[in-house]
Amino acid sequence: MTSLLIADIHSNLVALESVLESAPPFDCIVFAGDVVGYGPRPNECINRLRGYALYAVLGNHDAAVIGKKDLRWFGSSSRQIIQFSRDVISSRNEQFLEGLPEKLTIEDQLMLVHGSPRSPLSEYIRSRQEVVENLNYLQLPVTVVGHTHVPAVYEVSKDAVEERKKSRLDMNPDLRYIVNPGSVGQPRDGDPRASYALLDPESKKVVFKRVAYDVQRVQQEMRNLGFPNFLRRRLSRGV
Ligand code: ZN
Repeated sequence: MTSLLIADIHSNLVALESVLESAPPFDCIVFAGDVVGYGPRPNECINRLRGYALYAVLGNHDAAVIGKKDLRWFGSSSRQIIQFSRDVISSRNEQFLEGLPEKLTIEDQLMLVHGSPRSPLSEYIRSRQEVVENLNYLQLPVTVVGHTHVPAVYEVSKDAVEERKKSRLDMNPDLRYIVNPGSVGQPRDGDPRASYALLDPESKKVVFKRVAYDVQRVQQEMRNLGFPNFLRRRLSRGV
């Protein structure tokens, strides 16, 4: 049973399609939140996810669109697109977001959250320090997170937390791991290509992948909708 790990799609349908087309065969999608926000196609992205065997949690932008997170937590361009998403989202897709939990446990093997296990809708795991602060919450072998838009793996042993910089990882069954597959729709590690990962829980393998997509097509669509320049430009540079 291979899982496609994805996070932070952010209404970027072109990037999502590229990932789904180029990914090797998988049995289910494990989605770490933020299907909406920043981009032009919230409904289409949600519709696309619904077609798969799906494990998914709520992200902070998802929560804001359905009124579960206050808009003052967001910058002005984020707020503008959250408002746009509220205006265009279908009631069926609003219900989909309302049904998403903040935390999900899959077969006692994997925990899924958007930000961190301690604070799913706000905390970022972007260094070993934040992993250490979340140690009490890491009860399962693998925790999948998103939110930073930067792919990462942290390996947790009895007395150390290490960041593993590898595109392919064989997990040690005696250790615990935090895996962030990076962002599909708005990568921020300087590589504009969509980011995702594949996880095989039986063989304990994680493989990270990148796939190029037609960034200009998305930017044109955002321009037509009057989205802020800053949100368009960052897609070309992956920041
Ligand atoms: Zn995000």
